[in-house]
Amino acid sequence: MRFWLLLLCLPTAFSLQAQKQIVVTVDDLPTVSRFYRTPADRMAMTRRLLHHFREYQVPAIGFVVSQWLYRDGAPDPDQVAILKQWLEAGYELGNHTFAHKDLNRISIREYLDDVSGGEKITRDLVSRQGKPFRYFRHPFLRKGDTPGKKDSLERFLVQHQYREAPVTVDNSDYLFSLAFDKALLKGDTATAGEVGRQYLDYMTAVVGYYEAQTDSLFGRQIPQTLLIHANSINAHYFGELLRRLKNRGYSFISLEDALKDEAYRSEDRYVGRGGISWLHRWALTRGKKGAFFKGEPEVPALVNQLAEGQ
Ligand SMILES: [Zn+2]
Repeated sequence: MRFWLLLLCLPTAFSLQAQKQIVVTVDDLPTVSRFYRTPADRMAMTRRLLHHFREYQVPAIGFVVSQWLYRDGAPDPDQVAILKQWLEAGYELGNHTFAHKDLNRISIREYLDDVSGGEKITRDLVSRQGKPFRYFRHPFLRKGDTPGKKDSLERFLVQHQYREAPVTVDNSDYLFSLAFDKALLKGDTATAGEVGRQYLDYMTAVVGYYEAQTDSLFGRQIPQTLLIHANSINAHYFGELLRRLKNRGYSFISLEDALKDEAYRSEDRYVGRGGISWLHRWALTRGKKGAFFKGEPEVPALVNQLAEGQ
């Protein structure tokens, strides 16, 4: 190919690649880490995480477990300060319940009380910033193991002006972070670094897997919703993951913009105990069977062993 022809082709290839979009949603605020425990460390970890978002212009959203904002029954100013850090940096916050209860294990009445309790402290903080408090993220991504529970929860969220925050790119970042924390607590930075490298490769593979699932289901790419947690491994490695996503052709968009895609109005009739990707809920609703779901990347043995060990 002549050189000038090659030049003509380059912008086309680039613009096709650049059509991929992804939202970063962060669960379990203020922080969830065994290594960063003191108020100063939690704040430092938060600044590190938010720095990655700022560097790559990621309009992230954080989901708060409001029970963790209290100490001895009173609001804990150190934990509340972490939320203020998010808000002042321009990020939106949503409801992730009061006590992170598991809908599979409790009655719908108890669960809905936990959803209401998720408004404590955070709703006021958010409204003082003039921001909306409008998204709900299900703990463990569980939406009801009976039709009655699922319907009641959906009705409740609508009545209280919440929109559910779906997850398409589900993953096990929390296991990597637990393994990472345990290595750091032992002072084993070499192993921690190895966990970090494996995390990046794993997450890249997970994104590839859900891209393929999306193509199979919709015949196109849709804006993806990525779930991560406010944990140590993301404070350390999420910047590198964002760099990789950018190189893969992703731009970073808000949850509000992602949900405008009609894919997010797909019917979800999945009722069961699994906390699974919305892509898989939609696939099951459309009658997809076993073979469709194959190939999800696994957590490496080293990480599982470290996460389970002392
Ligand atoms: Zn959670």
